[in-house]
Amino acid sequence: MEQTQPAPSVSIVDVSPRDGLQNEKVPVHTQDKLKLINELVSLGVRRIEAVSFVNPKKVPQMADAEAVMAGVPRDAGASYIGLVLNTRGAVRAVDAGVDEMNYVLPVTDAFAKANQNTTVAAALDSLEEVSSIAAAASIPLTVTAAVAFGCPYQGDVPGEQALSVVGSALQRAALAEVALADTIGCAVPWQVGEVFAALRAETDLQLRAHLHETRHTALANTYAAMAAGVTVFDSAVGGLGGCPFAPGAAGNVSTEDLAWMLGRAGFDTSIDPARATELGRWICAKVETAPRSGLAGAGVFPQRV
Ligand code: ZN
Repeated sequence: MEQTQPAPSVSIVDVSPRDGLQNEKVPVHTQDKLKLINELVSLGVRRIEAVSFVNPKKVPQMADAEAVMAGVPRDAGASYIGLVLNTRGAVRAVDAGVDEMNYVLPVTDAFAKANQNTTVAAALDSLEEVSSIAAAASIPLTVTAAVAFGCPYQGDVPGEQALSVVGSALQRAALAEVALADTIGCAVPWQVGEVFAALRAETDLQLRAHLHETRHTALANTYAAMAAGVTVFDSAVGGLGGCPFAPGAAGNVSTEDLAWMLGRAGFDTSIDPARATELGRWICAKVETAPRSGLAGAGVFPQRV
């Protein structure tokens, strides 16, 4: 295959232990979460969204966040991300020894209310406090702007609305990276390219995209985001994931499909797509669901002989 000029680096953050498992009904044992994390590290993933520090009554699957963080392999060169929604979560994340904190910032009041019982304005206030907590602990803080391309409650989200909320976040918090999330998988590539390009013009920070595969636009959206300067992509093995407050949100773009596509284009993601496919099969079986990736059905191309 002829190689075009690849961007200097593209990397994948595997979110399967958190976004992937969070809403699965079948409880996953802490030891199995740790096996998943160890396998992710061994197949080449360097950043892993391992846990979220949220109310265990609302998200029982994440109730063992501290136990998971206590068991992750620390000498393997991987960075472990803990997701937080508020200061309480941020304090727990520091105590649990996360390497990075990721704050979820909704860009619509309707989603803010449903997902974390807050408003966009209050979430920005809270971000400022979380930023202080992270800075005091010397932990890099990233933000993921939720429902940045469309909201299950508000409907269309104009690019200006998402950019205005993210702009406030950039002013009020010390961030290491900013992500826009297609939380319900409703974005199309032209929209993704336009909004990320506008964000690229606003900040020099590293940009990440969190794309769901609900309507089969995630890989096309990846291409559009890369053309607009995005260098980091979230994904989950087996295409696991969903959101209870985002009706119809099928899984994340799968790590195996993403790593395979990027690898075929000449980018070095460090991740082996065939092994990611097998790991996706394993964890999907644990939660009694079928893997949703293309590679799970068709295998890698070309096949190894
Ligand atoms: Zn997600």
